[in-house]
Amino acid sequence: MVTDTEWKAIIENNPSYDDQFRYAVKTTKIFCRPSCPSRPPKRENITVYYDFTEPEKDGFRPCKRCQPNGKPVDDTLWVEEIDTIVQEQYAENLTLKELAYLAHGSESHLRHVFKKVTQKTPSQRLLDIRLTAAKKALLSSDKTISQIAREVGLPNVSYFIKKFKEVYGQSPKQYQLKHHENRHSTTLSKLIE
Ligand SMILES: [Zn+2]
Repeated sequence: MVTDTEWKAIIENNPSYDDQFRYAVKTTKIFCRPSCPSRPPKRENITVYYDFTEPEKDGFRPCKRCQPNGKPVDDTLWVEEIDTIVQEQYAENLTLKELAYLAHGSESHLRHVFKKVTQKTPSQRLLDIRLTAAKKALLSSDKTISQIAREVGLPNVSYFIKKFKEVYGQSPKQYQLKHHENRHSTTLSKLIE
């Protein structure tokens, strides 16, 4: 996928390879110039392109920082990139710092732009996605609350319960029980019919 020479150019941010290839990162869906100053991703997640128009055809988006298309990446597009990362990696221990690294920007810039475009901070957005995923898991499985909390990236159970309550007005357990009652009564009414 990546030759040793290309890999070396990437980790050394070598600008003399900028007219030779672009590299795209599977986990973040972003592509860069070899000279991009962002922290390099894992080698196995990289795909190298010699035709600079190919990465976008494959669904990758240009990096905000190194502008691999030679033109600025506007804020809306960058927010889409950030949002994709949040949606794909919410289950991980995703901090603002990590998100900024993955999205190739500084923490403060990322927070500022995200808020400006979506009226929400990246942390609020991340929490929304985690709670929505938790709600879905509560409805579709018999997993314990702490299992679900862990799976959606909120391993601190009391924090998870507190936030769930704030947003949905009931605890995860109440929510799960209520739904299960509904499910059972549906089964029961089917039996009676
Ligand atoms: Zn870049």
